[in-house]
Amino acid sequence: MYGLNGKLLRINLTENAISEEDIPEQLLKEYLGGRGLASRYLYDEVGPGVDPLGPDNRLIFFTGLVTGTVSPSASRYSVVAKSPLTGIWAQSSSGGRWGVDLKASGFDGILFEGKAEKPVYLQIDEGEAKLLDAGDVWGKNVTDTSAIIKKAAGEKYNVACIGIAGENLVRYAAIMNDLHRAVGRCGLGAVMGSKNLKAVAVRGKQKIKIAHPEEFKETAKMQLELLNESILGAGLQGYGTNLVLDMVNNCGGLPTRNWQTGVFDRVDDVNGTALTDTVLEEAVGCFACPIKCGRKTKIKNGQYAGKEGEGPEYETVGTFGPMCGVSDIEAITMAGYLCNDYGLDTISCGSSIAFAMECFEKGVLTPQKTGGLPIEFGDAEIIINLVHKIARREGVGNLLAEGTRVMAADLGGGSERYAMNVKGLELACYDSRAAKITGLAFATANRGGDHITAYVQGPTFLASPFLVIDDSEIRDPLEENPKEALIVKELEDALAVFDSAGSCKFMGMALDAREWCEIIRTLTGWKFDVEEFRKVGERIYNLERAFNVREGLTREDDTLPKRLLEDPLPEGPAQGHVNNIEPLLDQYYEFRDWDGTTGKPTAEKLKSLDLGFLVRDLCGGQQGV
Ligand code: SF4
Repeated sequence: MYGLNGKLLRINLTENAISEEDIPEQLLKEYLGGRGLASRYLYDEVGPGVDPLGPDNRLIFFTGLVTGTVSPSASRYSVVAKSPLTGIWAQSSSGGRWGVDLKASGFDGILFEGKAEKPVYLQIDEGEAKLLDAGDVWGKNVTDTSAIIKKAAGEKYNVACIGIAGENLVRYAAIMNDLHRAVGRCGLGAVMGSKNLKAVAVRGKQKIKIAHPEEFKETAKMQLELLNESILGAGLQGYGTNLVLDMVNNCGGLPTRNWQTGVFDRVDDVNGTALTDTVLEEAVGCFACPIKCGRKTKIKNGQYAGKEGEGPEYETVGTFGPMCGVSDIEAITMAGYLCNDYGLDTISCGSSIAFAMECFEKGVLTPQKTGGLPIEFGDAEIIINLVHKIARREGVGNLLAEGTRVMAADLGGGSERYAMNVKGLELACYDSRAAKITGLAFATANRGGDHITAYVQGPTFLASPFLVIDDSEIRDPLEENPKEALIVKELEDALAVFDSAGSCKFMGMALDAREWCEIIRTLTGWKFDVEEFRKVGERIYNLERAFNVREGLTREDDTLPKRLLEDPLPEGPAQGHVNNIEPLLDQYYEFRDWDGTTGKPTAEKLKSLDLGFLVRDLCGGQQGV
């Protein structure tokens, strides 16, 4: 087999049992590894109604086809489970080099089931796996856990682990690898904590077999050349992802004070230039990545001076900064460091704090409930205080650890109107009232309100080499154009391929579908053309949708928070705008060939994607929907 090892490691934590399974080549061809293949295992093994934090949930790590090859930015692995934050299908991916080391250990993926009696960690060395006692590291955060395991096992081990946020089942806890890289979204760290699984340490030297090595090297060279020509690489290397903060603010779509407005008046204190001038030490990247969008940073001024780490990237700045009304870049950087060490998703964490600030402002969250703590917009110290409390589930932190959907249900008082999540997942920092296409992408993303499922954050990233239509006529971000529905659908499918193949989306977007097919063909030897590329992406997307439909999700769930639908932006270039999602959704379902009333994929669509086995689950054995 080329590209992958064809091996899955299955760990039954309840039984303390380890076994190896061959992965059928047909499954690899249909799902490419990573997100797609992990989702197939999840669909098959986690039936409807399973408790995300119970032993019957699965936690599935999977590398992709290109992970660990010389293809630039081929560093990524995915983790898939049912989410404790949203209650539906969940996936998150991470770079660094942990996924590369997992593949080099001889396995493409690891599937955890059950729950260990006491805390354990998994150690894999060159195809040999064992479960070890994690008593020494339980109760420790990411930095200490990694250091202790490396000291015991050897420096060559690479560690993915949870901090105490995962142990405490914070619903948006992350899994961290290489200290600073996060499987951030959807609370997969809490699933790991619920299984009493503290860490996975891997090492190995196995080489990846390539079907056409010379041709594959040529495709990698071509990728590098394309990247060198694109402004994406230079911009990201210079300023990191925070590059986009000025652009989003200039469009009037930078969520500020919990999305009460889209313009932040102190943007110069927190933008890419500010970050570079204050805390940046050097640009750093994942395995084999020439882009290096990561930031190695050190705080030089103020009360956190001397602290160092990586980040913050754009979403961290956006959520702890403008969304909380905070312009103190040192405090924002510190909040990011703490999230990395506790193992917390910065988007959901910052959003939960911003939501608490608005609830406090409106009197819905009272001083009695906060333990006398004033939680006010603009207070940089309170965000640091709350990150500690959330990770430890201390005081009001116990409420914030549940995420905005549960917080709103608990607090009442109409607060669900400004709980800024879709399907329970907190939205990233792009106000869709200022970029209508983003609203549709938030509403339809399979893991909930997500910005990188379709990657259409307003006009800046609208163009894509994968589009089958001319996008030049829909450049006005404020217009709700039905053609946007096709763009969202096409990008959701294409990006499902990148996540499954193990490529970073930044690199993936620099190539077109034909170039991607060449990478897969030369790596695996499979016949793989553009038609197959599209079919694989659509298959994966429909399978994930089927998981959610089986959990009871309907068209009514494909919507946006009321604030985006009903409250016009009060100022800036998008002043007066709201989202009008329904006509776009009608169009989207038509392009998807999903039933316009229920939101279910039709039996014909499923069969055309070789997903006929889903028809009975979704359609009750009938051929219609
Ligand atoms: S572009 Fe950034 S996230 Fe992507 S592989 Fe490179 S360093 Fe990692």
